[in-house]
Amino acid sequence: MGTVASMRPRGKSGCPMCGKPVMEGHKPFCSARCRQLDLGRWLSGSYAIPGEPATSDDSATPPQEDKDNES
Ligand SMILES: [Zn+2]
Repeated sequence: MGTVASMRPRGKSGCPMCGKPVMEGHKPFCSARCRQLDLGRWLSGSYAIPGEPATSDDSATPPQEDKDNES
């Protein structure tokens, strides 16, 4: 194991999202951005139900096969 894990809280310092040094005020993440990312994952269900396809009819597949883009 050489590279820094990006999704594993190792030790005490290290953002579980990107692995960057944790910043005070955003623990246990490095920034509010990673914090939101993690939260988004939770809400998305990526963390909640691993293994189960959480493909809800929300906004997973954008309507792209409608007509030609531009002529
Ligand atoms: Zn981070």
